[in-house]
Amino acid sequence: MNKYDFPKVDLHLHLDGSFRLETMFELAKERNIDLPANSLEGFRKWMDEHADAKDVNEYLEMFDVPTAVLQDKESLIRVTKELIEDIASQGERYAEIRFAPQLHVKKGLTQRDAIEAVLEGKRIGEQENPSIKIGIICCMMVFGPETVNWEANMETVTITHEYLDKGVVALDLAGAEGIVPLTNFKSLFDKARELNTPYICHAGDSQDWVTVKDAINMGAIRIGHGHHIYENPELCRLAAKKGIALEICPTSNIQCKTRLSFPMHPAYNLFKLGIPVTINTDNMVMAKTTLDQEYDHCINEMGFDYKDIIKLNINSFNVSFAPKEYKEAMIKELESLL
Ligand SMILES: [Zn+2]
Repeated sequence: MNKYDFPKVDLHLHLDGSFRLETMFELAKERNIDLPANSLEGFRKWMDEHADAKDVNEYLEMFDVPTAVLQDKESLIRVTKELIEDIASQGERYAEIRFAPQLHVKKGLTQRDAIEAVLEGKRIGEQENPSIKIGIICCMMVFGPETVNWEANMETVTITHEYLDKGVVALDLAGAEGIVPLTNFKSLFDKARELNTPYICHAGDSQDWVTVKDAINMGAIRIGHGHHIYENPELCRLAAKKGIALEICPTSNIQCKTRLSFPMHPAYNLFKLGIPVTINTDNMVMAKTTLDQEYDHCINEMGFDYKDIIKLNINSFNVSFAPKEYKEAMIKELESLL
């Protein structure tokens, strides 16, 4: 029996950080793409070494390999399908997988093609693993000043809207934090709001609470990471009052050095303040983690108990974009275990 044998949710899961190493190695060889190592073991070792990054931006360099490989429909379909199979086998009942369509247009695909491929992988994955449901989140990217990829981001906004109700559930902004103020991206979110597209935003991970405040002010309903909100009690109260969820990814936060250790992570205190805290993996392969391992850290080092973990999953379902009836049934099941 699975150690955490209840409906589990991962809301913050990047496709290009959660592949099978064997698959990525094989796909790279087939496509004649240079890898940092010539053997699978060497590739694994390289990944392990880089996972212990000095900061978020060095951590992001690890994504160069999957980004170089995932440039055709076949590879996108396969990694999506396999990820769904992997998390379903770990007892997850719902997950939101995110990816940035604009990262997959280097060899002829359009953003639309990339979304179609990921949706095809989702369709096959759900069909083969009926215990799990999946939502897809499309990420806009921050590479530098907002002008660098403004058009690509705007295209992501409009295409996300086009694919809502076809398996895409929301828009996100990911990438490097702190190069320019987050508010420089405001009109992209304004456009999403105009199109009635739900959106969330990475903030307050490597940067301080100001970015969380900016994301909330721009209308984000969930914050990717966002733990630096803890340094501003007034903002914490506001997030609790408005029900702004935090997608906490403990191992990733420690790896990126945005928190010094699991015991020093404020997730439990944020949870006790009434903020809808959720626990997620971020990048299963880069962080070498699973939801169960994150829950172990929560219980052994961060102050949560077993029932808290059930409550965290209730939070996750509540703030998820899962179909209403499914969400209600899952919450009922979780509540019966409290
Ligand atoms: Zn993320």
